[in-house]
Amino acid sequence: MARIAPPPILACPAPAAVLAALPGARAVGGAVRDALAGLPVQDVDIAAPLPPERIAARLRAAGLSVFETGLSHGTVTAVLAGMPVEVTSLRRDITTDGRHAEVEWTTDWREDAARRDFTINAMSLSAEGWLWDYFGGREDLAAGRVRFVGEPARRLAEDYLRALRFFRFHARYGRGAPDAEALAAIRAAVPGLARLSAERIWAEIKRLLEAPNPSGALALMAKTGVLGAVLPEAGRQGRLVAYLRSPCPQAPLPRLAALLGEGADPTRLAARLRLSREEAERLAGYLRGPTLDPGAEEAALRRGLAETEGETLLVRSWLAAQAAAGGDADPPGDWAGLAARIAAMPRPVFPLQGRDVLAEGVPPGPRVGALLGAVRRWWLEGGCTAGREACLARLRALRGGEA
Ligand code: ATP
Ligand code: MG
Repeated sequence: MARIAPPPILACPAPAAVLAALPGARAVGGAVRDALAGLPVQDVDIAAPLPPERIAARLRAAGLSVFETGLSHGTVTAVLAGMPVEVTSLRRDITTDGRHAEVEWTTDWREDAARRDFTINAMSLSAEGWLWDYFGGREDLAAGRVRFVGEPARRLAEDYLRALRFFRFHARYGRGAPDAEALAAIRAAVPGLARLSAERIWAEIKRLLEAPNPSGALALMAKTGVLGAVLPEAGRQGRLVAYLRSPCPQAPLPRLAALLGEGADPTRLAARLRLSREEAERLAGYLRGPTLDPGAEEAALRRGLAETEGETLLVRSWLAAQAAAGGDADPPGDWAGLAARIAAMPRPVFPLQGRDVLAEGVPPGPRVGALLGAVRRWWLEGGCTAGREACLARLRALRGGEA
């Protein structure tokens, strides 16, 4: 057994209190992996060899707030000093059907590790820094190998989501050729992906698109048939590569927008994968609406920002220019310059509201909106520099013209 420096997060009040309150508890999964990889650890899952009710009782007795967030899976969320920590009983699968598992509690750490997906995710770590690594995860992590715990085909048939998780973790931790046995099993498991819920699929795709560079993993997904099964709209991998080089925001949704092929309908995609309303609106906003030229003059920039939030405007403009340039080329122009100008410019706010029109003596009714709209168009055409007084004067002039 090896000993390592535990990640600083284990010393935060909540994880420290959980580890102290539960005999034999250890950090598990991502926190252990990322600590070994030298990556920052933002949150930590803890497991303990006790049934969930006993875990909850002991944590409450130790003064933590406990929420029974997933008691049937053996998980509670403990909160201290505003920080939540998921605490899970050691588990063993009794039955699996490709999507869900029925579990029972165990006190055997190795059994719990054996039901985890990849060797790099199956390690556990005590508060003192003792590392348990039952399946060679540390070596695999150092070598950039994402390897299933156990036989890939069987692990996939237990839960087909693991096919997507393989690519997510490969994008982040993989180096060199991916595990051939895993890829062959994933290829054979593609028909099983149809059984997964849209929510689980989208959650994994989003995590994949958060990786610093997801393009290699996406290419592998296409080659194995996984991409065609879960995201057939992602026809423009070369364009994503260009997008990754761009100064545009590197978040999952704009990256997804860059991946969409011609003819992909973002509204249908959003409905199929059950994106939240906000996500769906953002995605659609990247793909249609007014755009800017990278060399846009100040007035055009202000107009653009009056209509559209800055990041959306930048992404939309880049995507439109890229489509016009054709192929997978970078669109011409100084996009870094445009990104900087957008970031530096406050969004112009039209200085009048409906009540200002009413205060001028216009009776309530559709005229109010029509006049307001007319003054706003004038304000936009002028580059959004007219102040409140100038807009009121314009309003009066328009009404004078009506009389
Ligand atoms: P991240 O930092 O990206 O969240 P993570 O390792 O915490 O990585 P999660 O999806 O949050 O990933 O899962 C936590 C842990 O639970 C994993 O490390 C793994 O051990 C286990 N796990 C999660 N989902 C599965 C699954 N479908 N099959 C087997 N084990 C899983
Ligand atoms: Mg996690």
